[in-house]
Amino acid sequence: MISVREAQERVLEGAALMPVERVALLEALGRVLAEDITSDIDIAPFDNSAMDGYAVRAGDVAGATTASPIVLSVVEHIRAGVAPSRAVGTGEAARIMTGAPMPEGADAVVMVERTQPSAHGGEGDTVAILAPVACGENVRYKGEEVRRGDVILAAGERLGSPGVGLAASVGSSAVAVYRRPRVAIVSTGDELVDIDEMPGPGQIRNANSFSLAAAVLQAGGEPHVLGIARDSAEQTRALLERAAEFDVMISSGGVSMGDFDVVKRVLGELGELTFWKIAMRPGAPNAFGKIGGTPFFGLPGNPTSAMVGFELFVRPLVRKMAGHAALMRPTVTATLKHDIAKMAERHFFLRGRLHKEPDGSYAVALAGSQSSALLTTLHRSNCLVSLPQGETTFPAGTVVTCIRFDADEDFA
Ligand code: AMP
Ligand code: MG
Repeated sequence: MISVREAQERVLEGAALMPVERVALLEALGRVLAEDITSDIDIAPFDNSAMDGYAVRAGDVAGATTASPIVLSVVEHIRAGVAPSRAVGTGEAARIMTGAPMPEGADAVVMVERTQPSAHGGEGDTVAILAPVACGENVRYKGEEVRRGDVILAAGERLGSPGVGLAASVGSSAVAVYRRPRVAIVSTGDELVDIDEMPGPGQIRNANSFSLAAAVLQAGGEPHVLGIARDSAEQTRALLERAAEFDVMISSGGVSMGDFDVVKRVLGELGELTFWKIAMRPGAPNAFGKIGGTPFFGLPGNPTSAMVGFELFVRPLVRKMAGHAALMRPTVTATLKHDIAKMAERHFFLRGRLHKEPDGSYAVALAGSQSSALLTTLHRSNCLVSLPQGETTFPAGTVVTCIRFDADEDFA
């Protein structure tokens, strides 16, 4: 049995970066940029007003107060999207909207709340300025945020929704990103039936194909459900042989000590077996190796064990292949609500429910029974409580590390 950390290292050390593809901007959301994006324009593209108000010459209104306002004549009304037609001279102002270009001559904008227009305050009217304004106040200058030719998004960065907006602002309607790893999903077991069927005696529905496909999607991969292999070497081989068509292959079931657990054997025949047991609970049997060049994971069959194995080993691999720098979920320390005893030889990952105490610290309670067959407990949990190998007793009040499901790796 190898340790969890060692298993993670073995899995990640051989990970290949996915090829690059150019996709429509929105398709790139959540993915990692493979090239820098430079700006084809200055942002802001022109000097413009940050407020609805009056563009003025700051020097004209230096002494303005509510008691003794300074009255300016309004020479123009400048809306967003329209170029000013004339300059603002001494004693003059232009009514201006947010985002509208600054007129020549004006060097500041007085917000409308600090003015008192006559009539509508438009062209031909006057406006009383009630407060002074500093030169440059409420003006957004050309090139203030970005200069033409600047790298605004760098290769290796993950594109979130603000990044999509930035790329859009410089006209990048298609961007180069790392391809999503295609992950093949195989279920094994004579007892499995499709989820549309009512299980007969001794049968269960193939839940793992769905939970794992969902987890692949959330990890940024592209799931391909290949179906069920019965517990025979031939059927298992027939599906595992397809590994070369994919970037990663995972199976569930058939890796423990039962009489019909053939995955390990077939993996050994078709490729190489790197390890097959990890000192952890749930889900010690986890076969890992390669078929051709494709990393292969034989996850355990129990629904929670399969998902915990995915979380700890497959998810970081998929992320690394997809170009992410942050591979591991964020952890938080929390105070245990219960006494917990465990065996020393295994690293335990208990399904927990984290919450914040009134003082802002975290506490964690177990989310329910820890049987590895129970998906309900995993559904109710928001973290895995990580209890390391070598230790046995964790009295209530012990500070433990929790792996958070509710935040992604970029917040780690
Ligand atoms: P195994 O590792 O094949 O011995 O399976 C362990 C347990 O997980 C058994 O109770 C199986 O019935 C169950 N199991 C295996 N595969 C699946 C699956 N695809 N969906 C739900 N449960 C499964
Ligand atoms: Mg089985």
